[in-house]
Amino acid sequence: MMDFSLSEEQEMVRKVVRKFVDNEINPYIQEWDEQGHFETSILKRLADLDLMGVCIPEQYGGSGMDYNTLAIVCEELERGDTAFRTAVSVHTGLNSMTLLQWGDEWQKQKYLIPQAKGEKVGAFGLTEPNAGSDVASLQTTAEREGDSYILNGQKTWISLCDHADHFLVFAYTDKSQKHKGISAFIVERTMPGFSSKGMKGKLGIRAGNTGELFFDNVKVPKENLLGEEGEGFKIAMSALDNGRFTVAAGACGQILACLEESVKYCHERKTFSKEIGKHQLVQQMLAKMEAGYQMSRLLVFRAGDLKNQGKRNTRETSLAKWQACDFANEAANDAVQIHGAYGYSNEYPVERFLRNSKAPVIYEGTREIHTVMQAEYVLGYRSDKQLSRSLPAWPYDEVKEEV
Ligand SMILES: Cc1cc2nc3c(=O)[nH]c(=O)nc-3n(C[C@H](O)[C@H](O)[C@H](O)COP(=O)(O)OP(=O)(O)OC[C@H]3O[C@@H](n4cnc5c(N)ncnc54)[C@H](O)[C@@H]3O)c2cc1C
Repeated sequence: MMDFSLSEEQEMVRKVVRKFVDNEINPYIQEWDEQGHFETSILKRLADLDLMGVCIPEQYGGSGMDYNTLAIVCEELERGDTAFRTAVSVHTGLNSMTLLQWGDEWQKQKYLIPQAKGEKVGAFGLTEPNAGSDVASLQTTAEREGDSYILNGQKTWISLCDHADHFLVFAYTDKSQKHKGISAFIVERTMPGFSSKGMKGKLGIRAGNTGELFFDNVKVPKENLLGEEGEGFKIAMSALDNGRFTVAAGACGQILACLEESVKYCHERKTFSKEIGKHQLVQQMLAKMEAGYQMSRLLVFRAGDLKNQGKRNTRETSLAKWQACDFANEAANDAVQIHGAYGYSNEYPVERFLRNSKAPVIYEGTREIHTVMQAEYVLGYRSDKQLSRSLPAWPYDEVKEEV
């Protein structure tokens, strides 16, 4: 039997995050956004609330909740602002869940546990100046030298670039093998030769930190190779299955915020002697938002349900991410429209929603990449096989330690 209701625990988590967002993010977010300020204390507070490793098993420092609870956290966070949901997406979705899936026991003890507890922050370095959608064009290299690899290259558009302690970095160990020559490494900020530089001038997510990473002969011990040499592409794609899930869930929160603000304004603003909510063309925009919200959540929870079962979910997650982000961008555009000229100023939050809602249509697979993927699935050009290493199914009581 399908059950669409939230468990008591999930309802509780939703309430906790909603209260946190209403009390500790919403009163300050406009100022942080205007100043381009990333408020690091938010990550510490999320750690206090045990929300930096929501779906990581307790044995690895997390809260041991299911994957859909992570979706709820992301939805509620993005109802406040995309910046903090993005932080959880890279820290938990792209980094910690990848360590859980691909890491050996030593890597989990050293890196996953402090990340899941929120004592250390993780990020994800895949994109380069000449390699975004086309991952195999990346130019960063990792040359084996004794018991280490020497990394050289550059990454760009990396979320949390100036704040993360650990980075998952993708580099070529053998360029001749094309995408099968890419490997994944855990790099620490403190390793000599590593540096980062945040960027200014972004359209949105201004309260978030994004920028470049530089690797100048960074010596990374061989123990920090994640998976096997040449498995980096596969690892990156499976990381994206988790990151995209969190982005899709966050987009639901963005739609919810658009709905809340728009409904409020519809009751306040009068034209032609009636509330604007009484005009059918305004109602149409609200109805589209509601439809987008409900459809997106169903797609997200379906993908989360597959994760809970330990099943591959690339196709379902891609569809959820594509649709939810498009709906959110459209909802934000309509929210500005409903607010008329006031929506065009920062007197109301909807202009921030519109600016914020664009990046998720670009990152973790652009709208076009997801469109092509979905077409390829229906045409039979693409299909998903179970990976050699899966995320553990939930509940986690059967997770076995690896030696
Ligand atoms: C705010 C923000 C945060 C980010 N955070 C991270 C991060 O933490 N880590 C990280 O690694 N990256 C991050 N990114 C980078 C992001 O993942 C890339 O921007 C994204 O993958 C797209 O790559 P690109 O920008 O190089 O665009 P390109 O790949 O150059 O694409 C340009 C255009 O061509 C289209 N296109 C490309 N190929 C095809 C095709 N085959 N078919 C049809 N159309 C195509 C695209 O859809 C797009 O419209 C972030 C980006 C942003 C904006």
